[in-house]
This record gives sequence, structure tokens and C-alpha cells, in this order.
Amino acid sequence: MSYQAPLRDMRFVLHELFDAAGHCAHLGNGLDRELIDGVLEEAAAFAAGEIAPLNRNSDEQGCQLEDGKVSTPKGFRAAYQQYVANGWASMTGPVEFAGQGFPQLVACAFHEMLMAASLSFRVYSGLTEGAVLALHKHGSAALKRDYLAKLVSGQWTGTMCLTEPQAGTDLALLRTRAEPQADGSYKVSGSKIFISGGEQDLSENIVHLVLARLPDAPAGVKGISLLLVPKFIATEGGGLGAKNTLSCGAIEHKMGIKGASTCVMNFDGASGWLIGEANQGLACMFTMMNDARFQVGLQGLGIGEAAFQGALRYARERLQSRGLNGAQAPDKPADPIINHPDVRRMLLTQKSLVEGCRMLAAYTARQLDLEHGASEPAARQAAGKRAALLIPIVKAFFTDMGQEVASHAVQVYGGHGFIREWGMEQLMRDSRITQLYEGTNGIQALDLIRRKLLGDGGAELSALIAEFSELCDTQAQRPALAELAHTVQARLGEWRELSAEVIALSQRDVQEIGATSVDFLQYSAYVLLAGFWLQAAATAQDALEAGSGETAFYQAKLHSARFYLRRVLPRASSHREALLGGAACLMAMPADSFAF
Ligand SMILES: Cc1cc2nc3c(=O)[nH]c(=O)nc-3n(C[C@H](O)[C@H](O)[C@H](O)COP(=O)(O)OP(=O)(O)OC[C@H]3O[C@@H](n4cnc5c(N)ncnc54)[C@H](O)[C@@H]3O)c2cc1C
Repeated sequence: MSYQAPLRDMRFVLHELFDAAGHCAHLGNGLDRELIDGVLEEAAAFAAGEIAPLNRNSDEQGCQLEDGKVSTPKGFRAAYQQYVANGWASMTGPVEFAGQGFPQLVACAFHEMLMAASLSFRVYSGLTEGAVLALHKHGSAALKRDYLAKLVSGQWTGTMCLTEPQAGTDLALLRTRAEPQADGSYKVSGSKIFISGGEQDLSENIVHLVLARLPDAPAGVKGISLLLVPKFIATEGGGLGAKNTLSCGAIEHKMGIKGASTCVMNFDGASGWLIGEANQGLACMFTMMNDARFQVGLQGLGIGEAAFQGALRYARERLQSRGLNGAQAPDKPADPIINHPDVRRMLLTQKSLVEGCRMLAAYTARQLDLEHGASEPAARQAAGKRAALLIPIVKAFFTDMGQEVASHAVQVYGGHGFIREWGMEQLMRDSRITQLYEGTNGIQALDLIRRKLLGDGGAELSALIAEFSELCDTQAQRPALAELAHTVQARLGEWRELSAEVIALSQRDVQEIGATSVDFLQYSAYVLLAGFWLQAAATAQDALEAGSGETAFYQAKLHSARFYLRRVLPRASSHREALLGGAACLMAMPADSFAF
């Protein structure tokens, strides 16, 4: 399956909606528009030319484990070496460790391309970036000196070792132990499962970030510590030292992302070093998990884009039936299926969801950048709160969207979508994991209500709604956009009321937190995207009024905005009604009565 990065849309989002160059000037990273566009063009060529061609074989060949060594699919190793040599691995890394310090706003476009080209390939480097963040923020000076530069360059990769057989969502149950040693290190023992990139043949060294319990740790999540446990112990200054006592016991055979190794990792008194304070591991790991959750959201977006591209290509070529309103291509035996309203419904649903999520991704990336790099402390704090509110929505909604869009792609191909040759079924299988890992989407929804909405009584959400409401007020003055603005404004009012209702329900009955959460997250995402579609429509209308030569591009934005508001946004109503249905009807039936 071929993939071309949607560069025009990415430029629209980065420059026309979010002023990427102004953002970079504020952050002081030296990037201007020309440089950003140049990098994205190279990135697009790399993703399409070097990575996308590996994806199909990676699915068929998968990973192999032999004598404790994992080999990745043919071509991954060479592509990874090129990825490192070309500096793609160090794009977002901290400058003081030879990273390039690119902002997330720009990097997220590149990362989306990688996800679309091959999710399996991206898994290895994605987690490394998260490990860099956690180590940079919480690690000791010695650990940073010995490990960070190689992780930033991509010569070494990172993993995230949380899950154990009995401890998935519930990390309070984890049993891996870390025994303190006289020299300040720890001996780590235990078994982790499902570790992405736990063993592979791409990088010289693999640095595991492991959650474990110290001997005197309090029970539950308050007794979890984070340790750095490398495959090869670094020498002072970052050379490769002795092999550590850890090994890959097995790799999983799975539904999708078969080119990404998923490993059982056994730590057998392995040497490890504490990252951050003892018993503060979960807080430190959250630095990595927040990034990883954003990245997993981008996985949904990337897969969605790849699926949309495949479906669009096919719909333009496949000839079946005549249009309901007569022949559209009389010179051909039948009309291209893109002429049929139902196929258009699927394509426009794909397009409006994917482009909508791209706007929300860039907006969130911008908040992440400002959280770390805004000049004023108050601005950093405000951006941090906004990002924290949005990340569970990005992770869960984008990945549900990716699965839906991939499923539409299969449908657009008809029976051919079910056949391996066309690549759509692989996208559907590959995207399924994104709804599960980094905290299942159900857990993201709980996080949205419990930690974000109830955490501040809905204040941050109200502030976000107020910003979009202002946009509606302005755009309602323009005849061409008034109808769109009124539709969005009405939903914003409803969202405000619904969030107050969810807070009240949750305070009355804690079961309502879990009963309303998924529908509330979905509702919120659909309305948020409506806000971004209004913003896109306004920007497109500005360009048309200014006499832009790209009439078709901007008109397509207006068409897509109208489609989204008329045909996709109504889904919000069913989520609203469902969540108002309450917890009682979920909880009343005894567990024994589910089947007889
Ligand atoms: C391919 C792959 C790669 C992975 N990579 C990594 C990795 O690199 N590192 C790592 O540490 N882990 C990794 N994982 C593990 C992954 O993060 C977990 O599978 C996931 O967090 C869910 O845990 P679980 O599978 O034990 O499911 P469980 O926790 O058993 O959950 C089962 C179901 O119950 C629901 N549930 C559980 N608790 C609650 C609750 N309180 N309220 C409502 N619903 C609940 C869940 O949403 C889910 O639907 C990977 C998994 C896979 C399959």
C-alpha cells in the first residue's frame, strides 16, 4: 500500500491555524516557516520512500526469537540505522544532550507520517522518546551523563516496563522487586509481559524503565519506584559495558503490529538505578506515559490517514453501477464508486474525522510545547492544564477513530477490503492495539472525568468552552459562516450543561463516574472537533475572501466542515442521551444473571 504524507493539509494546520513559525519564535528554537516546510518535505520522502514499503512484509514476516535474540522484519534494521543517521531519532531530544529540540507542534506531523507508514516500525522509536523525557526530567546527573545522549541519538532505545501477568490496568498489583545494594544500585527481579521493543536487533543497547517495589515500600501504587535497568550497563560517559542479567523469555504472536516485538522480559537480579525518589515511580512514569498517550493518539491519526488514502484511491478507480441520478462516466462500463452517496458518506466521514483529529493533535502539541517552553510561568501552567485535559481525549478518541476509519476503508473496498493484498485489513488489525495499550480507552475516559473534570470542578473545561464560544460569536457575524457558528455555539452550551450534570451525578453516586465516562469522552471529542472545524472553515473563508489561488483546497475545507457538522456531530446527541441513562441500568443486574 502506498502512502503520501498529506503535506498540504499539514501546512494548513501548522501555519494557517496555529502559526507554527510564530510559535517557534516564542519558544526561541530558531525554526522558521521555510525550515519547517523543508524538514516536513524530507520527512515525507523518508516515510513514503523508506518506511512505508516495509510495512506489508513486516506484517507477514513478524519478529522471531531465537536463543534469546529477537530479529525484526527484513529491512527494519537498515531503515532504523538510516533513521538514526539522518537525525530523525533526535528530532525532539533535549539540545544539551545533542538533540535538535524540535517542538511537538512540528514533530507531531513527522510522527503522524511514521505511524501511517508503519506503526510497527514507529513503536521502537516512540517509546525511546518517552524514556528520554522521563530520564531528563527525573534522572540523576550520573544517569543522564551515561545514558541520555545515546538514547537521544537513537543509538540506544528505551522501553517502558509496567505490565505483569497479574498487573495490567491495576499497577498496585505489581510484584517486581528491587533490592538496594551497598553501592546505591538495586537488584531487580521479576517478570514483565507485553514489553514493546523489550528485545530487538535495531539498537546497540536497550534501556528498560521498570516499575518495581522496594522492600519496605507501602502497599499499592504509593509503593512503586521507577528504575533504569539497561541490557548493557553503560560505562561512565556512555560506553557499552557489561551485559546485565535480564533476558527475553518469549515474544507474543498477535493480531497486528507484528513487526513490533512484544516481549516477556525476565529480570534476574539485574542491576538497576532509581529514577527520581523511591516510591515516586508512578509520578515519574507519568511523564513518560503522558507523552506515550499523545503518541498513541497520533498512531490512530496516522492509521486513519493511511486508510483514508487507500479508500479514496480505490473509490476513484473502482467502477460499479451507475449513479442514482444517471451515468456519471458514460464512456466507461460503470461509474467510479466515489459517485455513490453512501461511498461519499464513508469517505467524508473518514476525511472529516482525520483532518479534525489532525487539528486537535496540533493544538495539543502546541500546549505541550508551551507547558515546557513558554516564557511566563503562568502560561506554562495554563498550557500544562490544557494538555492534561486533552490527552485522554486524544488518546482514546483518535484511536477509536483510527479503528473506525480503517473499518470504513475495508467497507469502501467491498470484499477486496477483506483480502490481504490491498492492505486495508492490516490497517484494521494494526490499529486495534492502539485502543488497548497505554491505558485502555475505558481507562482514559475514567481519567478524563475523575482526574481532570472532577479534579478542578470543571474549571479547565469551562475555560476551553469559553474560548471556542468566543470564536463562534465572531464567526456568527459572517453570513457565510453564521449557520456553522450557531450550530457549534449550541453544542458548546450543551457541553457546558452536560459537564455540570456529569459532575453532579458523579458526586451523588460514584458509579456514575464509570457509567458516564466513555460517552462523556466521546461527546466531548465530537464537540471539540466541531470547534476546530469552525476554525478551519473561518480560515478557509478568509483565504477565499483574500483571493487565494487555491480555491479548490479551501472550498473542500468548507465542504468538509459542513459535512462534519451535519453528518458526524449528531453522534454527540446519542452519547449525551446514553450517558444520561445513568448507572442504575448498568449496575442493577447481578453479575450471575448475565447468562443462564
Ligand atoms: C502489543 C502490546 C504492546 C504492549 N506494550 C506494552 C509496553 O511496552 N509496556 C507495558 O508495560 N505494557 C505494554 N502493554 C500492556 C498494555 O498496556 C496492557 O495490556 C493494558 O494496559 C491493559 O492491561 P491488561 O491487558 O492487563 O487488561 P486488564 O487491566 O485486565 O483490563 C481488562 C479490561 O477491564 C477493563 N478495566 C480494568 N480495570 C478497570 C477499571 N478500573 N474500570 C473500568 N474498566 C476496567 C479494561 O479497560 C479492559 O477492558 C502492551 C500490550 C500489548 C498487547
